[in-house]
Amino acid sequence: MTRPLPESVQAAARATYDLTVRDITTPMSHDEMCAALRDYDGVVPTLGDMFSAEVFAAVDAPMCQVLANFGVGYNHIDVAAAKAAGIAVSNTPGAVTDATADTAMCLMLMSARRAGEGERMVRAGDWTGWHPTQLLGMHLSGKTVGIIGMGRIGQAIARRCHFGFGMSVAYHSRSRKELDFPAQPAADLLSLAAAVDVLVIAVPGGAETHHLVNAEVLAAMQPHAHLINIARGNVVEEAALVTALQRGQIGGAGLDVYEFEPTVPDALIAMENVTLLPHLGTAALEVREDMGMMTLANLDAFFAGDPLPNAV
Ligand code: NAP
Repeated sequence: MTRPLPESVQAAARATYDLTVRDITTPMSHDEMCAALRDYDGVVPTLGDMFSAEVFAAVDAPMCQVLANFGVGYNHIDVAAAKAAGIAVSNTPGAVTDATADTAMCLMLMSARRAGEGERMVRAGDWTGWHPTQLLGMHLSGKTVGIIGMGRIGQAIARRCHFGFGMSVAYHSRSRKELDFPAQPAADLLSLAAAVDVLVIAVPGGAETHHLVNAEVLAAMQPHAHLINIARGNVVEEAALVTALQRGQIGGAGLDVYEFEPTVPDALIAMENVTLLPHLGTAALEVREDMGMMTLANLDAFFAGDPLPNAV
């Protein structure tokens, strides 16, 4: 395990495996990743462990046969290079869906209703009391949300928006979806951006979605609209987002992820209409336990010679 996972997950792993837990919380270095591939039958990597083609190329005849990723997003692993090296890769879809959708709702509400700004006002001792025109935000109920990437998490967000907030749902995805709630597919990303009050990003990271939300998409948004990103930081061209916010081209942004994580641009920190969370998407113990148990189920299946339940 490349990071400490919840105690229950470590205990379950110890029952089956000769377990080594890397006892620090930062991503692995190139040399550590090479050693992991060289010295272990299976590795449980996670976000930030950049298993690039160079890492696989640096290890001749790796002992490692499987990378059982802790997390649904696996854009930090060069899957083609792993497979070429004879190493299978799995992830943890589903276990993260509701928690991440909840985090999206949290950001939507915080951004639209200026919750961060209000909290900072109270903590600074600057609150002089309620009055009718104080900190007026955008009422979320009944507005239109646009989902970029109508997959598991995108659909869970859309459901919350439709059933919980009476919002209209529109989306842009690679393929059209059969859904059991009303949702309008957009002709393209630009027309989606132009039509909605809240634009939520829920696509995977990686080369295909790098800077999908760029200056052009941000310019298409309405000046009152909010951008929410719970997916991966580099889906958004962060410099263009800063410019769009500074110019008032959009109303605000709620971010859980950043292009150069954990670095957050000073310009974003300086703006009151930006809500900044430290990649909290799945941060609840039971969710992290479910993710961990799913990771172990993948390892168990692999070493039993069965198909990986969550192969990528
Ligand atoms: P998913 O079920 O695979 O959904 C991804 C959706 O994005 C799919 O509907 C896919 O379309 C669509 N898509 C992919 N490439 C696209 C493109 N170029 N343009 C438009 N749409 C595209 O994945 P998920 O489980 O919902 O997870 C989504 C991502 O959320 C993960 O990959 C991860 O990076 C991120 N995440 C973040 C956190 C956090 O802590 N903030 C937590 C969990 C996950 P098709 O259905 O047509 O293929």
